Amino acid sequence: MSFKTIIEPFKIKEVEPISVTSEEERVQYLKDAHYNPFMLKSEQVLIDFLTDSGTSAMSSRQWAAMMEADEAYAGSKSWHRMEAVIKDLTGYNYILPTHQGRAAERILYSHLGGKGKVFISNTHFDTTRANIEFSGAEAIDIPIEEAKHPMLDHPFKGNIDTKALEELILKYGAENIGGVILTVTNNSGGGQPVSMFNAKEAQKICQKYKVRYFIDCCRIAENAYYIKHREAGYENKSYKQIAQEMFALADGGVMSAKKDGLVNMGGFLALKDKKLADECTNLLIITEGFATYGGLSGRSMEAISVGLEEVFEPAYLQYRIRSTAYLGEKLYKMGVPLIYPIGGHAVYIDAKAFYQHIPVNEYPGQAMVCELYLKGGIRSVEIGSVMFGKYDKERKLIPAPNELVRLAIPRRVYTQSHIEYVIEVFEKILIGKDEVRGVKIVEEPEFLRHFTAKFERLNKT
Ligand SMILES: *Cc1c(COP(=O)(O)O)cnc(C)c1O
Repeated sequence: MSFKTIIEPFKIKEVEPISVTSEEERVQYLKDAHYNPFMLKSEQVLIDFLTDSGTSAMSSRQWAAMMEADEAYAGSKSWHRMEAVIKDLTGYNYILPTHQGRAAERILYSHLGGKGKVFISNTHFDTTRANIEFSGAEAIDIPIEEAKHPMLDHPFKGNIDTKALEELILKYGAENIGGVILTVTNNSGGGQPVSMFNAKEAQKICQKYKVRYFIDCCRIAENAYYIKHREAGYENKSYKQIAQEMFALADGGVMSAKKDGLVNMGGFLALKDKKLADECTNLLIITEGFATYGGLSGRSMEAISVGLEEVFEPAYLQYRIRSTAYLGEKLYKMGVPLIYPIGGHAVYIDAKAFYQHIPVNEYPGQAMVCELYLKGGIRSVEIGSVMFGKYDKERKLIPAPNELVRLAIPRRVYTQSHIEYVIEVFEKILIGKDEVRGVKIVEEPEFLRHFTAKFERLNKT
């Protein structure tokens, strides 16, 4: 029997109050935060869609496992459990525990990167790009053409452009390619999935030119959901089998367990090759910690072990993907332009299309982020020219390809009525949209500027 209503497949055992604020209060809070929601205090936020990273609600099984954790410096029982779970999932022999995804990235990409090296991805996530560029290497994104058109329907809009991949390898020379990174799902590209077919095509090219191939596997369970339901030949495979098949194609995986690990902190680097793993382990010990805990406590390792199992449960994944799509589909019907189809962990609004009167150098995405907070206390993030814009020699903005606002949905945290509230906030925002002006940046750091940049709102002219 199937039902139209997909319920949250959990009961609530513990509650955390949300602080309710008024619009007048929020005007002041946002001003104090320099119009950058990263600088808001979380208690000033009603619905926190800033990120799905590290914001999951843990299960009673995870909390129970944490109580059993072994905090030994070396050879902890919790480490052996986590190592076994990740080996089973990835099929790789060498597992390096890190405090979060970017620590794994820094270790791997600083080792394989450096001046003259090039990394190629469907889309580098912002910390991935920053780690690569910080090493002196270059990061090139080659999503498929369809991904550049927000409203264009395609079942696997996260795919990498394999023709461009081969051309780039030939252009730069295989020996200069630090690695090919397949991000699943493609976070910055709209949380869109990558097909197994595409992952296999990319593997063939990497093998042909002997280029290393990595999977940024933060959301590989969510990606597996799409493969099972959208790609022929996978209907009868389990979500975990699909993930395992994808891991088998690559030389390694980088994971932020703060996503599909269903934990608040943690990550790992998993590698096939012993020599590379040994070299990375040296770097791990210098900055993260000893090889059997990296940057993690025994408690965190226990939570990750359970989380990596729970995330593949069919009822969980169905609820997860469908509840994100529910929000997106409602907004779409109201006439909010967004990336379609809806991705796995977030709804991405096309702010350039929403605020057509705001030029990109006045950051329409950041303007929407401010409106969502002011009108409804919703915290979201700009994924556009604030995050990915660059300057040319005259310090003129080279804008990002898209001006998006991401509503990232924390896992197992909000219920249907929270989502209905968000939809109502959008109704209000649609009404006043032509009055909204953009922002200007008044202070910014050199890397990852969206975290700490300060803004001012432009006045009506
Ligand atoms: C979150 C994320 C990272 C970085 O992980 P952190 O745990 O935040 O350091 C890398 N890649 C992707 C695709 C991500 O979503």
